[in-house]
Amino acid sequence: MRIAIVGAGVAGLAAARDLHRQGHSVVIYEKSKGFGGRVATRRVGPYTFDTGATSIAPRGKSIEQVMLHELDTSELVLVEKPIYAHQYGRIFPGDMARSQVPRYTYLGGNTKFPKLLAEGLEVRLESTVDRLRATNSGVEVFGESFDAVILTPPIPQSEELLATIGETRRFANVRYRPCLSVLLGFAAEMPEVRYHAIIDTEQRHPLTWLSLESVKCPFRAPAGHTAMVAQLGPAYSRQFFDSPDLAIIEDTVSQIERLYGPNFGTPDAAEVKRWRYSQPETTTTFESVNRPGSRVLVASDGVTGGRVELAYEAGVMAAKLLSESVTV
Ligand SMILES: Cc1cc2nc3c(=O)[nH]c(=O)nc-3n(C[C@H](O)[C@H](O)[C@H](O)COP(=O)(O)OP(=O)(O)OC[C@H]3O[C@@H](n4cnc5c(N)ncnc54)[C@H](O)[C@@H]3O)c2cc1C
Repeated sequence: MRIAIVGAGVAGLAAARDLHRQGHSVVIYEKSKGFGGRVATRRVGPYTFDTGATSIAPRGKSIEQVMLHELDTSELVLVEKPIYAHQYGRIFPGDMARSQVPRYTYLGGNTKFPKLLAEGLEVRLESTVDRLRATNSGVEVFGESFDAVILTPPIPQSEELLATIGETRRFANVRYRPCLSVLLGFAAEMPEVRYHAIIDTEQRHPLTWLSLESVKCPFRAPAGHTAMVAQLGPAYSRQFFDSPDLAIIEDTVSQIERLYGPNFGTPDAAEVKRWRYSQPETTTTFESVNRPGSRVLVASDGVTGGRVELAYEAGVMAAKLLSESVTV
């Protein structure tokens, strides 16, 4: 079969990898300049930040086998310190079960994982698919004929593509939350801490998640410096999504000062990354939106759950359903 995949995030790459391995011809169209989608790494000055997924917990069987046993592991780093919680300005151990899950990152940033997955695959970068065309034998993308297509963008964006061929699926209950990620580098040392990240499990505090990137992984900041990524909660992110970067950065720095005091000073690197669709708050199931024999499948974290290992599983499921139920 000749298969088009929209999106070179983890779901798209997982599907492509399995289909390619089975001998199918696969073309991935990706709108941005690089691989990974919401597994994203950004370098600013001497700092390296994971702006989307902080770490990867290869809990599902398929991702575990691929990430830990098939792909190059020379840059893989086990995140040793756990995740703590924070509430009312206090930082404490929180849910210990969360901390027992092995989590990994890569020395140069988490985008290494999608880059490794993409090796040997045909990925057309900077190629935004804005319409599909249904044909008697499959689907056309950019005027090229395919036997089937797998859509992996977040559900609202996949829905728009389905609408171009007059299709709707049962996505009514899938909703994503927005997230402002604020990248901060400080020319000051982080005091010794027992955790690599803190979470507000209630998701009410503006600072829902703070990853200490330079505690999480070596070489994310020069000696004596600190790199952090603050993820702002859904209510805050919705309200201030279009606010100027400077206002969001100043507000985030003041939230950090409330936790750690004024010792960090002014950041010497600061950027805002806006995620309109960060993680699904509610999902549907893969089976309820994908029927055997369909030549247009939907496989994003919106059908499994907002985590890297679940997005991977969505891709694996799409590849399996397609290869088992569609013949040409
Ligand atoms: C801030 C943040 C923090 C997170 N933290 C964690 C974490 O710590 N651990 C964890 O496991 N998960 C985390 N996640 C969730 C995880 O990153 C996602 O669930 C997962 O990466 C989703 O993968 P995907 O392939 O389904 O979608 P995506 O990664 O969104 O991939 C879809 C791809 O499709 C492309 N695309 C979209 N439209 C088109 C088009 N029309 N044409 C061509 N290409 C298109 C996009 O550019 C993108 O590359 C986090 C996410 C965010 C945003």
